[in-house]
Amino acid sequence: MGLLNRDIELRLDLTDRCNFKCIMCFKGYETGRDQSRKSDMTVDFFKKITGEILPRVNILHLSAGYEPLLNKELPAILSEIKQKNVPQVVMTSNLMALTDHTADLLTDGYIHELHVSMDSADKNRYEMIRQKSDFDRVVSNLEKINHLKLLKKSKYPKIVFNYVLMKLNFNELKDFVDFSASLGIREINCAEFRVPYNYQKELLPVGSRGLPADFDLAEQHIDYSSPKIKKDLMQVVKYASGKGIFLNVPYKFDLNGSGTLMRRKQQVAHLWAKSSLMTFRGKMAFGLNYLKKYPIYRKVSCSFPWRQIILTATGEVLPCCTWSDSPSMGNIHGETLAQIWNNEKYFSVRAGIRDGNYPDACKECIVAMKKRHGI
Ligand code: SF4
Repeated sequence: MGLLNRDIELRLDLTDRCNFKCIMCFKGYETGRDQSRKSDMTVDFFKKITGEILPRVNILHLSAGYEPLLNKELPAILSEIKQKNVPQVVMTSNLMALTDHTADLLTDGYIHELHVSMDSADKNRYEMIRQKSDFDRVVSNLEKINHLKLLKKSKYPKIVFNYVLMKLNFNELKDFVDFSASLGIREINCAEFRVPYNYQKELLPVGSRGLPADFDLAEQHIDYSSPKIKKDLMQVVKYASGKGIFLNVPYKFDLNGSGTLMRRKQQVAHLWAKSSLMTFRGKMAFGLNYLKKYPIYRKVSCSFPWRQIILTATGEVLPCCTWSDSPSMGNIHGETLAQIWNNEKYFSVRAGIRDGNYPDACKECIVAMKKRHGI
C-alpha cells in the first residue's frame, strides 16, 4: 500500500493500567467498578487489528493515556509494528518500568519519538504530582536511553518532555528547561491542565508525599489572560529558545504581537530540525497526506474525526482522547474498524463538528471553543 493511502493517525492503548496515580489524571481517582476491568492488549489481538489498520497509519502513538511499558508483550508488539513499516511511531511513557530489553529496542529504531511525562525537575515536587513514582529511577532510565543512543550512534528515539502546567509547577518551568538541557532534551510540550471528571478532593494523597493539607486540585488552573502570567511565560519561552529548546505553550496561551513573530520563527526552526529526525517514509507520508487533506482541514475547526482514531485496550473506538468518559463509536471486538469508521455515530460526530454543533464530549475543548484547527 502506497504512502498516499497512509492517512490515519492511530492512538492506541496497549493496556488500561498505570503504575502511577498522578494527581491531575482521572486514573488516579478510579474506584470500585473501574478497577475491575484492567486488561492488556495481547500480541494476537494486536495482530488481528494490524491487518486492517496499520497499512493505513502514518503516525502511530503507543498510548492514549495509559502506560505502555506495563504490557509484557510490548517487545513482540514492537516487532510486529516494525514489520509493517509504520512511518512514524511515537510512545508516551512515564519511563518507570523500562527494562534493559525494552531500552535496547527503543534505541534500535523501533520507536521514533519517546514522550516522557515529567512535570518538575525537583524530586519532591515530581513525586508529589506523580504519586507512586520514583524520580531517581526515571532520571536514571532517561540517562540509560541517552547512553545507549550514544553507544549505538542512534538518533532514535527523539525524547520529548510532556509537562502538565499547573499553579503548583508554573514557577519551576525555567528550572525544568535547565534540567532538559542537562539531559540533551530539546523539546518540552506544556499541556493544558484539566480537572479530571471524577476528581474527588478527599481522595488526594494529602500529607503522604508532601501535598499541603489545604491543597485543592480544582484551583490549579492558570489564568493565561493575566499580564504577569503572560510576561513570565514569554520569558521562559525566550529563555528556552536561547538554550535551543522548543517550549510548546498551552493552547489557551495567546501570545502578543512580537511574541507571535518570535514564536513563528522558532516554530519554523524547530520543524526544520525535527524533520531530520523523521524517517524518510514519515516525511513523505505526512507531507503527502497533509497536502491531500488540507482542503478539508481548512473547512472545519477540528479535523480529528476525519483523520484520527483512538483505540483503547478494551477495543473501544473514539474520535479523540478527550472522549475517554463519553460513549464510544463502537467496539472492535464486535465489528470491523471499517464498519465503525462509517457508522451513523461517526457520521453524526463529523456532521456536528463540520456544522458547529459540537457533540457534548467536545463542549469543553479549547479547539471547539476557539473554533479553529490548530492541533
Ligand atoms: S473538538 Fe476537541 S474534543 Fe472534539 S474531537 Fe476535536 S479536539 Fe477532540
